[in-house]
Parts: sequence; C-alpha cells; structure tokens
Amino acid sequence: MRFGKLAALGFAAWLLSTPAFADEQVKPILDSAEKLKPDAIKFWEQLVSIDSGTGDAQGINAVGAIAAEELKKLGASVDLVPNEHALAGDNIVATFTGTGQGKILLMAHMDTVFAKGSVAKRPFRIEGGRAYGPGVSDDKAGVVIGLTTLKILKELNFKDYARVTLLLNTNEETGSRGSRTLIERLAKEHDVTLNLEGGRAGDGITIWRKGSGTIKVEVKGRASHAGASPELGRNAVMELAHQVLQLSKLADETKGTTVNFTVVKGGDRKNVIPDYAEADADVRAVVSEEFDRVEHDLAATIKNKLIADTEVKATLTRTFPVMPQNAQIDALATMAQRIYGELGKTLALGGSGGAADSSLAAGVFKPTLDGLSMIGANPHTDREYAVVDSMVPRLYLLTRMVMELGRKP
Ligand SMILES: [Zn+2]
Repeated sequence: MRFGKLAALGFAAWLLSTPAFADEQVKPILDSAEKLKPDAIKFWEQLVSIDSGTGDAQGINAVGAIAAEELKKLGASVDLVPNEHALAGDNIVATFTGTGQGKILLMAHMDTVFAKGSVAKRPFRIEGGRAYGPGVSDDKAGVVIGLTTLKILKELNFKDYARVTLLLNTNEETGSRGSRTLIERLAKEHDVTLNLEGGRAGDGITIWRKGSGTIKVEVKGRASHAGASPELGRNAVMELAHQVLQLSKLADETKGTTVNFTVVKGGDRKNVIPDYAEADADVRAVVSEEFDRVEHDLAATIKNKLIADTEVKATLTRTFPVMPQNAQIDALATMAQRIYGELGKTLALGGSGGAADSSLAAGVFKPTLDGLSMIGANPHTDREYAVVDSMVPRLYLLTRMVMELGRKP
C-alpha cells in the first residue's frame, strides 16, 4: 500500500477515527517519514553491521556512539549511564525537553543474542522486501524507529511535550540486570513508556507480556563405583529426572502458566554414580499470583522423592514482572489503533510469552505499550527478518503517539 496516496485512504475508517485528524495533518508526517526512509535504512545497515551481543562492550559502545552522535545532532542531551554489576557497555539516555505537558519514555535495546563474527557470516541485506542480519529486528530496527521518529518531530518543529526520552539499553537479552534500576527510575519519571520491540506478525503491537522466572533444582546424592558397588551410591541424576518430570506439572495451561526444563547437568564420568545434578526451568505466567502459587507448590512437590537419601533443593527466582493488560493499556492501545486508522490501516493487538523491558516499566505501574517497531519475525534465529515496508507506517504511528501523549496533561 502506498501512503502518499491519501485519496486511497478509507474514508469510512478516517471518519470513524475520533478525534478527527485531517488529511492535511497526516501528510506532512508521512512525507517526512518517506523522505527520511533512505537514510534510516542506511543507519539501520550501519547498526546491524556491528556485532553487539550482550556483554560485547566494544560492539555495544560502537552502536551507542553512532546513535549518541545522531541524537546530539537532534538537540538531545545525551548521558552515558554505565551498567550495574559492572556489566559491559554504557546505556544511552537521550533527553529532549519541550514546551508541553506529557512525559514520554521510548525504549529500544542495542544488544543482540548473537556472538562476535555473526555479522561477517550474515551481513545486512534486503531481499523480497525483508531486511536480514543479526538483530535486524530485535532490536536494531527499534533503535532506527526511535531515532527517526525524533528526527521527524524535529523536522516538523514539534515541541509540544514536556519531555521525550530515548533509552538505548545494553543488556536486554540477558534480562536487563545491568539497567533495571535505570529503566524503573526512567519509567517512574515519565507518564507513559513506549517500548520499541518488533511489531507482531499480522501488523500487531504487544499489549501484555507474561512475567518470567527460573526454577533451579539441585540434588545431592552419594558417589560410588557404578560397576563394583552401585548399591552404595545415591544417584543424583535419577532423582533429578524424577523431580524434573513431577515439577513440570506445576504448569497450568488454563492460566497460561508454563514450566519448561531447559538446562540439565549431572555426572561427568560414565563409571561413577553421580553425587550431584542440577536443572533449570523457565517459568512464565500471565498473572503474578501464579508465581506465588508455583513457589508454594514447588516447596511441597520436591518432598516427594524417588531416592529417599538424596537431598533436593529448589528455588524460584523471579526475573521479569508481568505486564498485565489493564484499563490504562487498553486506552493506549485504542489510541494506537485510531492513529493507525488514519492511514487506513488496522493495528492488531496481542500478547507475548516473552518478557522485555516494557515488563519492567509496567512493573512500576506505568502505562506501557510494546511492539511499536517494524514488523519482525523469527527473533534469536538466523532466519530473523524485519518487513521494510512497515517502516513508514510505524514511524507515523510512533510520531503521532508522541504528539498526542505530549500534549496530554
Ligand atoms: Zn530479543
């Protein structure tokens, strides 16, 4: 679909969008987005061409330096905020101060899940309308959308906001341990947080996210010769296998709670009954009460042992809070749909089992919307891509959201 052709805009859709936003107001934003698109693609290529796996300080700071330079050109005051726990790289916090009322936090992350050398193997390329490369969608596209939106606002000389902040995080892919306090502080300082993770398939945004946690199970047994005297041993791997199977049942499909054992370790020599084994399970839930329930049931369940003389310990660690669907988020989503409707387009709403930085913003009870970057697919794989044609409509959406939220008292 071509967006320059506003005559093609569904009149009914436009009429239904309230408050009405006139064609002549839509056009300058779209024109600016179209004009900036070629440079945005170049910038995108530049970002994807730098390996910046979480923990790669050099790569992350190289991405940060390019972004910071662009942000300074736009008139932002840019702070480099070192990570907590001495993790790699500096977070970028770019602040724009305007003359209006609303305070809006935009977030994207610079780190990827890919190891150094991935770019050389799979350089940025566009094929059949899709852009490929390590982190192309997750979340280099988000950095591009955030920065280009700020460029559009600057071009249009729009300053009707109290504050717009762009946070570029360094360690989202490993749970934002190094920037959690920063994200929570910034989210509290702003009225609303818009997270620029990839748009969902079917042209959607993300309005809820499951919270996440980890169950760690540790079993202590007793070593013995596996051939000569197995009966003297207490097999930690056998007990762990039993625990893994029974603890998997802490999942509750009706409530959307999942418990998946993903890492198992035990034993290192074939002829020794192992005296130690451990396993990690990934836990997700739609409502935070489910974490309480899992934690409670976990303690009760491990008492049921296969091998009486083994020692079993299990803990639940909560990683990301739940981003619940609530009235505030519904209102934001309705606004986003109305704005997308100005282009004659329909914005789908959905949720995700994956946690993200928006979960941390939601965790401090601030209205938060996610999935506002370009449409993407297959994150964390070498088949990852982003839909290039979704750039302009997503730039329009974010620009208009900042405009409406900026004015808002
Ligand atoms: Zn990711």
